[in-house]
Parts: sequence; C-alpha cells; structure tokens
Amino acid sequence: MFLSVIVPCFNEEEVLPETHRRLGAVLDSLGEDYELLYVNDGSRDRTLAMLRDLAQRDRRVRVINLSRNFGHQIAVSAGLDHAQGRVTVIIDADLQDPPAVIPEMIDKWREGYDVVYGQRRSRPGESAFKLGSARLFYRFLNLLSDRPIPLDAGDFRLLDRAVVDAMRGMREYDRFLRGMVSWVGFRQYALPYDRDARFAGESKYPLMKMLRLAADGILSFSVTPLRAAIVLGLVSAALAFLGIVYAIVLRLTTSTWVSGWTLLFVAILFMGGVQLVTAGIIGEYVGRIYREVKGRPLYLLAADDRDRGPERARPPVSR
Ligand code: UDP
Ligand code: MG
Repeated sequence: MFLSVIVPCFNEEEVLPETHRRLGAVLDSLGEDYELLYVNDGSRDRTLAMLRDLAQRDRRVRVINLSRNFGHQIAVSAGLDHAQGRVTVIIDADLQDPPAVIPEMIDKWREGYDVVYGQRRSRPGESAFKLGSARLFYRFLNLLSDRPIPLDAGDFRLLDRAVVDAMRGMREYDRFLRGMVSWVGFRQYALPYDRDARFAGESKYPLMKMLRLAADGILSFSVTPLRAAIVLGLVSAALAFLGIVYAIVLRLTTSTWVSGWTLLFVAILFMGGVQLVTAGIIGEYVGRIYREVKGRPLYLLAADDRDRGPERARPPVSR
C-alpha cells in the first residue's frame, strides 16, 4: 500500500459526495495504490450511511466508525492507527484543504522529507475573529512551548510511515497533533498553500472546542504556565516582604503605624487572587494527570450493526 488518506468526518453529509469525487480524481491521477480512510466521528446525520455506501462501491474506501463523537484530534488518531500506507495524508472533509496539493506533498516526500505540512498562505471564508484569534494563538503558543510549532499550519499534512509509527506510540489523552508531529522531529517541510472556504455546511469547531484545542496546545506541550505561577508567587512574596519590613520599621521607629483598611483590603484581595490563579494552573495539570492515569482507550469503535437482524440479537445479559 503506497498511500493512506485520513478524512475525519463529523456531520459532513453536505460535503461528502463532492469531497469524495475530488479526492478520488486527484488520487486516481497519481497512478499509485491507495486507501481512503473515512473516520466517522459520531455523526448524527447521514454521514455514516453515505460512507458505507461509498465503501460498498469502492473497495479502496474504508470506514472507521467511532462509537460516539470523540473530537477531531482523536478521530485523526484513530485514522493513524488504521493507516497502512507507506505515506499517510491527513485532510479535512470540508475541502478547505485542496486535494490538489497532495501530489505536491508527495513530490516533497520523494525528495526525502518525512513530514510535509501545509502552511496556509491565505484563508478565505473565515471570520475576522477566527483569523485574528488563530494568529494570536500560534504566536502565544510558540512563546510558551518547548518545541517550535509551525505558524499557521493545521492538520493538513503528509507523514512518512516512520512518523505515523512514532505517533501511534504516543497514547496521551489530551492530543494536539501539530505539537506531537513537531515533537517527533524527522525532516519536516512547510508547503505553502491557499486554503479554500468551506465547501458546504458549517464549521464543527465552535468557540468552546477552539478554546479547548488551544488549551491542549499550551498545557500538553509545556510546563511554562507552572513556571509562570512560580514567578507570580515570587513577585507577590517580594511585595509582601517589602510591606512587612515597612510596617515593622514604621512601628519600631515612630509612634505611629500603618493605618487604614485600604491597605488591608488591597493586600487580601491581591493574595487571594494570586493563590486562586496558581491553584487553577496546578488544577489544570492535575486534571490532565487524572485523565491520563485512568488509562482509558483513546476511542472506541462502534459495534458493527450491519448484520444484526432480530434473529441474531444477543440475549440480554443476566445479573
Ligand atoms: N471534525 C471531527 N470531529 C469533531 C469536529 C470536527 O471529525 O468533533 C472534523 C470535521 O468533519 C472536518 C475537520 O474535523 O473534517 C475540521 O473541522 P471543521 O472544518 O469544522 O473546522 P474548521 O475548519 O472550521 O476549523
Ligand atoms: Mg474546516
């Protein structure tokens, strides 16, 4: 098997036929054998039925059906677990990443690169807010992260077998694939491309999911926030020390003392704030440790329901 293409799908019935048509055209033109791995991430529309239909008509299509919605990053990870190709390409289902870029990626791979990631030159059809927040996020992330994470690159990328195998060994629960790909190293190449607007349907990344992804990007890839908490603690301790010295000296050398509850009020609120923020940062990491030590599988595959007629229904489990 030369090429595996992973397409995560969450409620994508509106784009799927067109995506499959365009992807198929590009892949056929390569003249290499390939497999198309569609990962159904718990869609609630006709996505699964459409995928099953595609798979029935084309044996190069495989459907990985997750038992519920696990999120984009885990859906792609499920695809990586099943990919058999010498090279693997990850692409969104909504045609924002043009399939026509795939041959260019493969050319770069032939030149000897192990990771070829698409770097967005332009992104039409996105709100000013999404563009602005994404710009800010990537820069902020790089400031904090221990590993450089390429600017303006999404998950549209080609991975060599060696990289896929390395990623498959990383079973961490909070996944930020771009960071993980950066972490594994190998020879990486940034391929500039123009992103298209979403072909149809709406974004499956509402603000909350975007924030979660951003939090994963930062908290799963660095302990800088913990160091920031130490700095915050040191600064407030230094301030407290100055205050203490001031109060004692004033009391011992004059017949007056620090007066007024304004100072008290300010000090208490300040210390309370510092402590809560610090506890919050630690809590975020503890939560991640908690999720990690449970050691649950990253995702589950749905029970296959194709040949479960009434006569084959399993007896109820007795207690
Ligand atoms: N997606 C997914 N599970 C989710 C959310 C999204 O598999 O919970 C898929 C979605 O079907 C698409 C890709 O991830 O193929 C990127 O999502 P989308 O285009 O909605 O994100 P955006 O481009 O707006 O950031
Ligand atoms: Mg999209």
